[in-house]
Amino acid sequence: MKDDHILVTTSNDLTPTLSLAVPFYNEAGGITEFFERVVPVLEGLEISYEIVAVNDGSEDATLDELKRERERNDSIKVVSLTRNFGKEAALTAALDHCTGQAVIPIDADLQDPPELIGELLAKWREGYPVVIAQRIRREGESWLKKSTAHGFYRFFNRLSEIPIPPDVGDFRLMDRKVINALKVLGERNRFNKGLFAWVGYRTAIVRFDREGRKMGSSKWNLWKLWNFALDGIFSFSSVPLRIWTYLGATIATGSFAYALFILLKGRDPDAPGYASLMTAILFLGGIQLISLGVLGEYIGRIFKETKSRPVYLVDE
Ligand code: UDP
Ligand code: MG
Repeated sequence: MKDDHILVTTSNDLTPTLSLAVPFYNEAGGITEFFERVVPVLEGLEISYEIVAVNDGSEDATLDELKRERERNDSIKVVSLTRNFGKEAALTAALDHCTGQAVIPIDADLQDPPELIGELLAKWREGYPVVIAQRIRREGESWLKKSTAHGFYRFFNRLSEIPIPPDVGDFRLMDRKVINALKVLGERNRFNKGLFAWVGYRTAIVRFDREGRKMGSSKWNLWKLWNFALDGIFSFSSVPLRIWTYLGATIATGSFAYALFILLKGRDPDAPGYASLMTAILFLGGIQLISLGVLGEYIGRIFKETKSRPVYLVDE
């Protein structure tokens, strides 16, 4: 099948060929550098483009800086959220405001090299609706983050019905039709990487070296990463919900066998067996609490979805 509409636009077309979707949270210090590096790359490609910058409720001068940049370059669009909604929501806001025929989400910290955009576009012009950028190396990231990220993707891919390719971030090119497909997915818990994988489409891969953060600091801490991982797993897998049936059945069978064994062995005086009873009760209590917790995870999500609150709110 030929995708006519993903080929290059004519110059009188109002929609730009390429949109960059960029979430900004407390990035004031690096904004000038970001645009200084990105804009020449885009200008060099000789295509029409727009940069959709979302201010995710920054507490620093991010918004003012973005507005200043917009004054200099009218291809920059600024969307400001009413508070900090988190990266996934900010990125969703950016994608929603993009009008380009191809859309590339990119981090504000220059960890995704803008120089790769040309290559992504070339693959897209070859007819791939999705071009993912796979990093070869993670420079400037701690050993802990690298190994937890690696572990997470292995674990995730074993549990989830939709695998996420390893070492792939949000940095990728998506055709307009992919963006439209994403908009149809109504869920509030936006785990974008999972959603991107879920929509499918023919995909090309471009490899690159991920650099260290250029300035500022990572907005993730261990707790945020942990929650991100949980969101991913519970939104894309029902395995955690199902294993309890098997575990419960195994434990019940085991306890039954043990009870038979005690009965056949005969009893002893002055209440021995107290320890084993206590152990059994506590152990089962623990298992039940864990399974309640897992149920809670899903119910919490159902609750969140049914409230149908928007993913983000735009201030200006
Ligand atoms: N970000 C955001 N809202 C947040 C946290 C982060 O919009 O609550 C943005 C941030 O400004 C950056 C991108 O998301 O453009 C990635 O953030 P960061 O570099 O902290 O994440 P990492 O690269 O460590 O995964
Ligand atoms: Mg980063």
